[in-house]
Amino acid sequence: MKKVNLGLYLHVPFCLKKCPYCDFYSIETKVTKYLENKFLKALKEELKLLKNFLEERFEIKALSFITFYAGGGTPSLLSPYFYEDLFNFLTKNFNFSPKELTLEANPETLTLEKTKAFYEVGFNRISLGVQSFSSRGLKFLGRLHTQKNIFKALGFIKKSGFKNFSLDFIFGWKGQGEKTLKREILKALKFNPPHLSFYELTLEKGTPFYQIFKGEKYWIKDEKLMNLYKTIEEILEKNGYERYEISNYAIPNYECKHNLLYWKLKPYLGLGPSATSRVENLRWENPRNLNYYLNSLLKEKKLPLKIIENLNSYELAKEYIFMGLRLKEGISLKELKRKYNYYLPKNALDTLIRENLIKEEKERISLTFKGKLLHNQVVYYLWEKLCS
Ligand code: SF4
Repeated sequence: MKKVNLGLYLHVPFCLKKCPYCDFYSIETKVTKYLENKFLKALKEELKLLKNFLEERFEIKALSFITFYAGGGTPSLLSPYFYEDLFNFLTKNFNFSPKELTLEANPETLTLEKTKAFYEVGFNRISLGVQSFSSRGLKFLGRLHTQKNIFKALGFIKKSGFKNFSLDFIFGWKGQGEKTLKREILKALKFNPPHLSFYELTLEKGTPFYQIFKGEKYWIKDEKLMNLYKTIEEILEKNGYERYEISNYAIPNYECKHNLLYWKLKPYLGLGPSATSRVENLRWENPRNLNYYLNSLLKEKKLPLKIIENLNSYELAKEYIFMGLRLKEGISLKELKRKYNYYLPKNALDTLIRENLIKEEKERISLTFKGKLLHNQVVYYLWEKLCS
């Protein structure tokens, strides 16, 4: 019987209001005590069934959770008691002593009392969905919060004892120029966040933004977008942050341990509707449907999971390239050969080096600034060149 270290992700599928660009699974609702309890009951059932599933399928006996991440949706809509109860259950039934416990929070949902309670039940990291430090930006993105809410929330986070927190932004919204972006970043830096994320606004199929803007030529030209990326990287690196992943910046030792598990292809379990999991070569996903999820667990007492793939070594090699090239450290050519039995021919690498898209150092390749802008294209090129 094996022992396995895993990350644990919880997808909280509730939001006060759906943002027009968002593709994550969530329903617009007020979270009542009744709904919270029902969701908690389903999660406990899911954990019990997953434990059996992992034992039977992988002969895994001892599960040890090394990180916990509540994402969504809006995890800060749930009460601290919900998490206290869940953590007690996890402690009783598993080896649960994660070093990092992250809560994604929206500014308008926090109060001082609630933030303190989140800290007291065990969270030690908050990822605050700031999105923009410009009122125009918040309006364009259809957010419920104002800048005032953000300032208040940051006060609560600091007063509650959180030393580790991230400010999450979306950039590239219509009307945002370099000057505005620069001002936003400088405002953020006043709060000394140990970690920042900057995600480019993209049009996702099925969202209202896609409907509105798909016919229109996308408002940002590549060159302007490149300047926005440059602005972010330059200011943050000058202020001691490392761009350790394409969209993520941290001061040393404050990289997100949980997300690093994904990028390094380590095992993790996902709970809640739409959550994905990965153990050994198996990857599966829960359906994007809260009612189906609740019924399946509470009435039928069965896991709602859909097995997606049993990855073979070619698929794993492709994933290693895709994920690994998001990281500053890039991928090891030796590991590609040793673990997956694939290699990348020298002439393919030389072409990318000549184009200034990758750099090679000590048998590792990583993306240059230009390469990071074209991550997907570089990855597809390398996939085509993979040899066994
Ligand atoms: S962006 Fe966040 S708050 Fe907005 S709908 Fe998506 S998950 Fe909910």
